[in-house]
Amino acid sequence: MNAGSDVGFDVIVVGSGAGGGVVAGELAQCGRKVLLLEAGPHLTSGHFRRWEAKATHDLYWPLRFAALPGGDAMIFLSGKCVGGSTTINTKVALRAHERDIAKWHPASGLTNDRGEPFALADLDEYYTRVENLLGVRERGDWENCVHTVQAGFRALGAELQPVHSYTDARCMSYGSCLQGCPTDGGKSTMNTYIAMALSRDLLEVRTGVRVERVLVADAPGGPRARGVAYVDAAGERHAARARFVVVAAGALNSPQLLLRSGLANPAIGRHVGLHPLRLVYGLFDDPQDAHRVYPITAHCMKFQTDDAGGFVIEASTIMDPIAFATTVRDANGPLWGPRLVETVRAYRHWNGLLAMVNDENNASVSIDNDGGEHIEVDLQPSERARLDGALRFSREALGAAGAKKVCWTGLISTHTQGGCRMGDDPLRSVVDRHCESHDVKGLFVGDASLLARTLSVNPSLTVMALATRLAERLELVLSGEVPGA
Ligand SMILES: Cc1cc2nc3c(=O)[nH]c(=O)nc-3n(C[C@H](O)[C@H](O)[C@H](O)COP(=O)(O)OP(=O)(O)OC[C@H]3O[C@@H](n4cnc5c(N)ncnc54)[C@H](O)[C@@H]3O)c2cc1C
Ligand code: SF4
Repeated sequence: MNAGSDVGFDVIVVGSGAGGGVVAGELAQCGRKVLLLEAGPHLTSGHFRRWEAKATHDLYWPLRFAALPGGDAMIFLSGKCVGGSTTINTKVALRAHERDIAKWHPASGLTNDRGEPFALADLDEYYTRVENLLGVRERGDWENCVHTVQAGFRALGAELQPVHSYTDARCMSYGSCLQGCPTDGGKSTMNTYIAMALSRDLLEVRTGVRVERVLVADAPGGPRARGVAYVDAAGERHAARARFVVVAAGALNSPQLLLRSGLANPAIGRHVGLHPLRLVYGLFDDPQDAHRVYPITAHCMKFQTDDAGGFVIEASTIMDPIAFATTVRDANGPLWGPRLVETVRAYRHWNGLLAMVNDENNASVSIDNDGGEHIEVDLQPSERARLDGALRFSREALGAAGAKKVCWTGLISTHTQGGCRMGDDPLRSVVDRHCESHDVKGLFVGDASLLARTLSVNPSLTVMALATRLAERLELVLSGEVPGA
């Protein structure tokens, strides 16, 4: 193992997505010596083309699946590149609902610095900082396909409203967000936090490296993180040392990394939330061209809270052709043969809604006997009722808008959360209110795995707000203003 010149970083950050990209960028701007380690490549807008198969290969974590009853499976999507999932996501930027955050204290005992139950207001200043930095704006620039489905929502007494997103005026509304934004109009941690720090030569980024474990050593106050062990693209093993380690490898990877590092807290990998979603498509007489718009300009929040139905519908969107053809189904199951051909031939005439439901955080991720990952999904009756309600409403809305036929996809998780949740109770959480491990000093978690309960909205803004809060805390400790590990 080669320790080389890697003795002496202030902070090592594992993973460069919504969480890690923000922590690394913020601390680098403070002048801290930060090493950012990322499993995927560093590709930028000049590389991005709307070539679905290539982007899926180059920018995504290989597809993962979890078994569902009846032989079905849930699909997990996430980014594997600098910027993580923010490089390939749809950029919707929403603050959590206060009821989402109100679930955190009962789930894990999480309190704020005054010892009160953690609340939405505790994130306000961090949301504002992220929104300003990313230039979050309202998207009222709806294309025809959105107006088409709005008529169906209104017929059912509901309403679509403009979303907020981290996209600036360079957004050409051509819909290739999931293959990386070619104009940089769509923001990611890659083209903001990380690019800004790199342009001032403040940050060291190593790509194509897989962190295998956090190095933990005995110390007078108990076990302490000293750095990480990683494998580079050539297969060589290295060690890098730092005063603090921030694990931000995403909700499915961070728990595995802690388990592989020997941490034994029983909450690791548990309470994972899926925010399960499906796309629901309606076939219209006129071309909809729902693939040639900024993918999500509108949403319906009428059913957002659990007691109102527990789901949010976004419009208008359709998967790109390969994903569309390989996931589309109806009440008889996945389409195949002539029916599939006929459906895909009419691609331009399909208009789509994205229906995502609140969940109960019952999934888990663990390591099996062969050392591989194992994801377990256990959908509860309340979650099934929300999924049925969201599908029913979406079908009705498309029908009321004039769709002649309706199809949909199976269940997908793109907003996976939890698994290393933050809380005051070490039996029900993995890290404390400052995101530091209950078991290993100097080891922090800084990504979507922190969320004690899944949000009812797209989570990345909240992940970035939590990461900003963590960076602020680490800077206070590094500058000696507050005592720390
Ligand atoms: C298709 C899609 C669309 C989405 N759309 C939206 C949206 O519109 N709005 C929204 O708010 N959210 C959206 N999300 C979700 C959002 O992007 C995620 O919630 C957020 O990025 C999670 O941040 P994270 O830091 O936890 O993980 P990620 O952003 O996934 O980053 C984790 C990074 O860690 C790296 N990594 C993992 N393991 C290792 C290892 N061992 N060593 C080194 N590096 C490692 C990964 O390669 C990855 O780059 C979307 C997600 C997807 C997949
Ligand atoms: S729709 Fe806008 S944000 Fe998305 S890839 Fe195109 S230019 Fe970028």
